[in-house]
Amino acid sequence: MANPLPLLLIIEDDAKLKRFLEITLGQHGFRIVDAATGAEGILRAANHNPDLVVLDLGLPDMDGVEVIRRIREWSNVPVVILSARDQERDKVAALDAGADDYVTKPFGNAELLARIRVALRHATLAKGQPAAVFKAGALDVDLSARIVKLDGQEVHLTPIEYKLLTTLIAYAGKVVTHSQLLRKVWGPNSEFESQYLRVYMNQLRKKLESEPAKPKYLVTEPGVGYRLKMGDA
Ligand code: CA
Repeated sequence: MANPLPLLLIIEDDAKLKRFLEITLGQHGFRIVDAATGAEGILRAANHNPDLVVLDLGLPDMDGVEVIRRIREWSNVPVVILSARDQERDKVAALDAGADDYVTKPFGNAELLARIRVALRHATLAKGQPAAVFKAGALDVDLSARIVKLDGQEVHLTPIEYKLLTTLIAYAGKVVTHSQLLRKVWGPNSEFESQYLRVYMNQLRKKLESEPAKPKYLVTEPGVGYRLKMGDA
């Protein structure tokens, strides 16, 4: 089959919400399979080989985080989680277990679609050549030459600031948790040194944001981490 529509697996026990997601996402050009429990979801993920999984964290039989761990044993399929407001910790655990992004209930269609599209785009990019140039608004990063420009003017970054920026670029549009950033930038034993991250993120914002207190690119995801915003996400 040539270019079939992307197949989404929706794992959600709330029948009304599941139906709503099926209709909405179906209207936006996705094929849908669904599951109402974690066990069923894992089985469907294995049998249907979906392009992306939309996973509710609060399932009747199994913790959503466990569903991600199980799926990650054999698959890199992008996973976007749906979480309730009182599931902050679960949300971070799910992202650290390998989920790609999240939306918090109640969420808007546009937000969910943006998260799904970014995650699908990353999955496609991961199969091809990495891009050598990153652009978002006035920000322009030549990754092969290691040159960062803002409004056409070169900006000098320290090695750590540059590493922090390129790590966010690797996840562009997706959320990155504090511990993921700390591990990637400072190494495996730095997960709890979150003050480093705050300090360097502030420095980076001062250099790259016209209003560092109201960042356009380097956005805080409260209680979770950071997101490098692109135009559409
Ligand atoms: Ca639920």
